[in-house]
Amino acid sequence: VIEVVRIGQRVVRDDRVTTHVALVSRAFGADRIFMSEINPEIKDTIEKINRTWGGKFEVEFIDKWKSIVKKKKEDNFKIIHLSMYGQNINDAQEELQKEENLLIVVGAEKVPREIYELADYNVGVGSQPHSEISALAILLDRIQKGKQFEKDFPDAKRKIIPTKNGKNVQVKETRD
Ligand code: SAM
Repeated sequence: VIEVVRIGQRVVRDDRVTTHVALVSRAFGADRIFMSEINPEIKDTIEKINRTWGGKFEVEFIDKWKSIVKKKKEDNFKIIHLSMYGQNINDAQEELQKEENLLIVVGAEKVPREIYELADYNVGVGSQPHSEISALAILLDRIQKGKQFEKDFPDAKRKIIPTKNGKNVQVKETRD
């Protein structure tokens, strides 16, 4: 199981980035994202995507990121905090690939110091500042070694048949 938690999200300014963090989580094989309810419409957006493109990816609203991190630690999840100050992903990936249940923490603005200690792994996708969207995508890809793109998204209304030229989309007929 792979889950993601978005912490420290700012109102409005981070809306689009948080939506993209959720979209990447879903498309790159995570099962669920936890986030604050500051931007409630993100949940509707993702549910609409699920209805069209399939799968059971969940958006769950939380009050306090720390409670979810502590609860997941009790449930034997390993906590990966994505941070440019962390261990280089090239050195960490082999160990991460062996873990069964992971909670990935991504920040927005400056993250609270505590998370560095609570995390089992602090992982940097390079040691330069960039984006939580790219850091998350690369981490999920390295952990799953590309296998996430072979995963089926069940009950889809639309399914893309990958083609070299043009677009091929299988549309499932429904009554609604
Ligand atoms: N300046 C903030 C700080 O020092 O905490 C970080 C802001 S950054 C735009 C937002 C998030 O992107 C970070 O919390 C981290 O999760 C992620 N991020 C940015 N660059 C990263 C990198 N090189 N490796 C891993 N994660 C990164």
